[in-house]
Amino acid sequence: MTKYFEVIRRDGPARLGKLLMEETIQTPAIISKDDYLAAGSVFCFCSVGEALAATPTSTGNKKLVILPHVPSALHAKPTIDLPNQELDGPKAMVVHPFCDDLMDRADVYVMGSAGSIRNPRDLVGAVVGVRKRIPVDSALYVPALATPANLAFLVYLGIDLIDKTRVVVDAYYGRYHTRDGIKALSEFDELPCKCQYCLRLAKEGEDAKILAGHNILKLEEELAVAREMVRKETIREYVERQVRVTSDLTAGLRLIDQEHVYIEGRTPQHRRSTLYANTAESLNRVEITRFAERVLNRYTAPKSDVLLLLPCSARKPYSTSRSHRLFAMALGSRRKYLHELILTSPLALVPRELEEVYPAANYDVPVTGHWDLEERAWLLRCLDAYLEKNRYARIVAHLEGELEQIMKDLGIDAVFTGGGTNDDALAHLSDAVSEVCQGAARLEDMRLGRYSALADYYFGSGAGDLLLAGKVKIKGREIQNEKGRPVAMITPNGTIALSSDGARRLEPLGKYIVTIGDFLPKGSLLAPGVVDADEQIRPGDEVIIRGEKAFGVGRAKMSGWEMIKSTRGVAVDLKQIEKR
Ligand SMILES: [Zn+2]
Repeated sequence: MTKYFEVIRRDGPARLGKLLMEETIQTPAIISKDDYLAAGSVFCFCSVGEALAATPTSTGNKKLVILPHVPSALHAKPTIDLPNQELDGPKAMVVHPFCDDLMDRADVYVMGSAGSIRNPRDLVGAVVGVRKRIPVDSALYVPALATPANLAFLVYLGIDLIDKTRVVVDAYYGRYHTRDGIKALSEFDELPCKCQYCLRLAKEGEDAKILAGHNILKLEEELAVAREMVRKETIREYVERQVRVTSDLTAGLRLIDQEHVYIEGRTPQHRRSTLYANTAESLNRVEITRFAERVLNRYTAPKSDVLLLLPCSARKPYSTSRSHRLFAMALGSRRKYLHELILTSPLALVPRELEEVYPAANYDVPVTGHWDLEERAWLLRCLDAYLEKNRYARIVAHLEGELEQIMKDLGIDAVFTGGGTNDDALAHLSDAVSEVCQGAARLEDMRLGRYSALADYYFGSGAGDLLLAGKVKIKGREIQNEKGRPVAMITPNGTIALSSDGARRLEPLGKYIVTIGDFLPKGSLLAPGVVDADEQIRPGDEVIIRGEKAFGVGRAKMSGWEMIKSTRGVAVDLKQIEKR
């Protein structure tokens, strides 16, 4: 049980937490010798017994105690197994990155030999490996590795504690650190920083102590930036641009993206921030692949004879853009006889009903009109799978330029209207649609269809049918049962908020359920109260709370697997809870 560390917020693998000592340390943090007592290497003692005896057993909760450790090279297994030691206060243990020993419970784990990590493969392998072996609600301290250039990436990987060792040692080698990387101080004609240390360096010449002052300041500044990025849920965007400073860091990002289980299990359902797809790595983001996967697997298109393919718009949701309003006017009443699918990069396919869902309503991408090979292949793969599952008798493609050509190359049998938004283009669209919609069946209630699509998207196939069963009616953004009581509503950020009635309707699906013990929670549901949780729950998901004495709904603050394994922290923010 972790008594001294708690994760407060998450943005992917990055997290904000607090180390609860006499003075609370907000993580990610730079820690120093003032914050811990380290028993040191066992090899500094005559025997293991002596090392264990020398370990301070209690500091109250003033300082972190790092138990004695057995030093070993980066890829080597330590030669001695040390027995577990119980402590009164916050406890830290050294964990060796590349051996698979199971670890005893501690509040903080210190990565051994971290300072000798020299390549991105070892860095990513070490962090992912260690994170798998230590409790999710413990802090990870990686000594002697952080620099202003790599700090944000370290935080993104899931590292909570770093130190100044590297930048201070580097100062004695004349290495000048900025977030853009490391350079010899002697190489500068003009220093790019105007801090008090740099002003002194310019005046007094090279001095290791003064240079260390600058290096530490840059590390502290970068830490503040990284923390703010996590708080604002923009750490991924920041890391995508920050890793550009060295090829090793860029390689690191590509390697961590290949650790799909690690990243996906920690990626929230929804972010408040805009998803900027500005780099090649953006295409691999979990948010993108998750959206596409759900469109193809969870979502089923409404029964429609006609499919209309449309381009995306800069403004989101698309319906609010000028171009899509013009399309809607051109379609007029024929809109009820066709289904609209928007083609876009990097999300590939956005059915009209899902345009308010994250990230479809919150992404931005550099628009050039050019589709590169990877984007093209991704779009084709998704469209192929989509048309395999959802069949239409006729397709109209109101697309222009490369996008139209891609559809033609794919051999899509469609009426191509040439795209565009001028009067002629819209007349083409209108004419083409009038023709193909002749004899087409009218779609069922499109507003209900939207709810059904959203429910399937968030809770899995079949959820829409359960949620909309019986006589339901739509009022604004709310769906009500026959008695006029709310079942669910669409929130402004495109998610579904369930009422208890809605949760009861979805319960038979057996998904997104958090099972709790024999009590009635209030306000927040804490992780220790969770008995079981659906593993696919991610932060931000609407979840059903079920216990012997309580039933209700809430919004997940951590992933389902994390709720089961955590001993501290808020698992779910409760919204409605009833005694039963
Ligand atoms: Zn400076």
